Amino acid sequence: LLLGGGLALETVTALAGGPRGAAFTLGAVAAAAALYHGLVHWNRVRTAISDPGDWLNGVSATAAVVALGNFLVRAEPGTHAWWGAQLGLLRLAALLVALGTAGTVLTIAGLRRDRRAWVVAAALATTAAVEAVTLLTDAGGPRDGTGTAPTSLVVAAWAGLVLVVAAQRVGRARALPPEDASSQTTTVGAVVVMVAGVLLLAADTLRPGDHWTSSLLAAAAATGGGIRVLRLVTELAQLASVRQEARTDPLTGVANRRALVESVEALADAPRGALLVIDLDRFKEVNDRFGHAVGDGVIRTVAARLEGALGGHGLLARLGGDEFAAVLRDADPDAAVALAHRLLAAVARPVQAEGRAVRLEASIGVASSALGVRALGGLLRCADAAMYDAKQAGGGVRLYDEDADARAHAERELRDALRVALDRRGGDAHGRLVVHLQPQVDLADGRVVGAEALARWEHPERGLLAPAAFLDLAEENGLMTPLTWHVLDQATRAAAGWSAAGHDLTVAVNLSTSCLAHPGLVGAVDDALARSGLPADRLVLEITETSLMHDPELAVDVTHRLAARGIGISIDDYGSGYSSLSYLNDLPAEELKLDRSFTARATTDPRTRAIVSGTVDLAHHLGLRLIAEGVEDEATHVLLRELGCDRVQGYLHGRPVPAAEFARWLDDRRAERAAPVRGSAV
Ligand code: C2E
Ligand code: CA
Ligand code: CA
Repeated sequence: LLLGGGLALETVTALAGGPRGAAFTLGAVAAAAALYHGLVHWNRVRTAISDPGDWLNGVSATAAVVALGNFLVRAEPGTHAWWGAQLGLLRLAALLVALGTAGTVLTIAGLRRDRRAWVVAAALATTAAVEAVTLLTDAGGPRDGTGTAPTSLVVAAWAGLVLVVAAQRVGRARALPPEDASSQTTTVGAVVVMVAGVLLLAADTLRPGDHWTSSLLAAAAATGGGIRVLRLVTELAQLASVRQEARTDPLTGVANRRALVESVEALADAPRGALLVIDLDRFKEVNDRFGHAVGDGVIRTVAARLEGALGGHGLLARLGGDEFAAVLRDADPDAAVALAHRLLAAVARPVQAEGRAVRLEASIGVASSALGVRALGGLLRCADAAMYDAKQAGGGVRLYDEDADARAHAERELRDALRVALDRRGGDAHGRLVVHLQPQVDLADGRVVGAEALARWEHPERGLLAPAAFLDLAEENGLMTPLTWHVLDQATRAAAGWSAAGHDLTVAVNLSTSCLAHPGLVGAVDDALARSGLPADRLVLEITETSLMHDPELAVDVTHRLAARGIGISIDDYGSGYSSLSYLNDLPAEELKLDRSFTARATTDPRTRAIVSGTVDLAHHLGLRLIAEGVEDEATHVLLRELGCDRVQGYLHGRPVPAAEFARWLDDRRAERAAPVRGSAV
């Protein structure tokens, strides 16, 4: 459209006898400018760098080319030839600038495979060649007095160019995904223009008797290019500071997670890289006690200390909250662990918060690419896992260890599954927590007088799990009380069922230390009794010596409250813990449960036998009954009876079995004993 307009205007002025070539040149240059804009836009969608100074570069470059042309052609100013040369030079300059831009775009925007880019460049080059040839021919000697009217060849070339470009629709090309482009390439163009302007200016000055056209244009080009460079440099500086900010943690000024990720990515091919994840222990307490402002100050202090301790050996980053990380580019596992200890020491020095000294500790996990952990996700995950391990162990430094990680992982899974299993809503996906019952037999007459409820986890994949597999886990994760309430509930219900079937039995439930200390214990026991309808004197609670000694005063208080209801208290594992005979006096116990280790050795070891015998005497003198657990054979059974033991429990009389099975067993046994069968051992 622009070129067509120029041609139309040219015809009108020619008919009116006006200056030749001016209108056509105007249209041609405007068309070239539009093309230039289109080319730049083509590039823009790729690089996403907004550059409003592009037009300045285009104008300056044009000025530089016209200046160069004048320098070379040297037509006499004011003449027709000079006038014609200026117009020709202007068009040629516009074409060359567009051609240069096409080249740049081809490179930067990665359009080398785009046929359209090549077609446009070829059309530009052809038109420029036609212009150059025409210009040189005309400058060589004007053929007529009218000077250099645009030849039909030039017009045809331009028209061809415009058609080709319109057919390619440059600038409306499908937007390519933006790339983080270097603005360097753009700067190079501006610098070239500026330098060219300056050189031309110098050359012009050195050549005596020259006129102003070339110098003026050269000066314009130099100035335009210069302004552009200045602008680009400012923009680059801004960009750099924005990038810096985007990679910095605002609170501490150290690198942020993003910068860390980049840096760890770079570690992927470092054979001796290491990643440390540093987490402050109990930092929440600092925040809670002193407020967040002080907490922030403490974090800043810690960051500065860590940076100091790192001593430029790596990059320190804050991952957020009270978590930091350090990337070491060149450190074997030993060196990384040693450094971690130095970081730990730096954190451990007291920090001043509101005039008070706060003591901090940290847990540090170390992952090393020398140990085969390479990928970014791998290093971060492993360092994190090691840190978690360190934290579990109460702080300190941990080097990532695959086995430990797998164990910790399995443990976490088991813990979560246990949580769900204990939660009744969890259904059966994670199995159920049930009780198995083991009979307790009176040594005097062989009657079953009680049963101990023992927890079992019916795990869907791992089968029936014994308490050893999950009790510690429950204790560590605060699941011991829900577990015990579960057991209490099932045990009391089972016992109520036996009673309804005419069996007169007590049921014993084990209490852990944490349950004994739980304020809701007495209430939970009352509830279980009320729900099941079991009389209180049918329930026995087994408490180990160790639990009782954990907080003797509390134990005395709680056991008294339980005993006041008629509940029996049994001192479990008696003889295995560190006993204090004096506390036995203060406890309202009714039973001592001799630890399995004594039972097992009583027949073979005379000294153990003496201990058992002495314990029987002690129990009886204190008005307690003695039950021996772990009775596995007939000989032990007989010996215990001889020694005066009251009751026994063990595989000899029955293994722990599910509640329903136990009830059936009780019925069968009653039927058996009712029938006059002789020779029964027990
Ligand atoms: P414990 O209280 O000493 O329970 C007796 C353990 O000895 C049971 O192991 C039982 O199966 C086992 N046992 C019984 N007779 C014999 C025998 O003749 N020979 C041998 N070698 N072992 C025998 P279990 O069921 O694996 O329970 C282990 C421990 O887990 C229990 O020791 C108890 O301390 C704890 N526990 C079980 N259930 C609970 C519970 O519901 N709450 C709490 N807090 N602890 C429980
Ligand atoms: Ca027990
Ligand atoms: Ca025991």
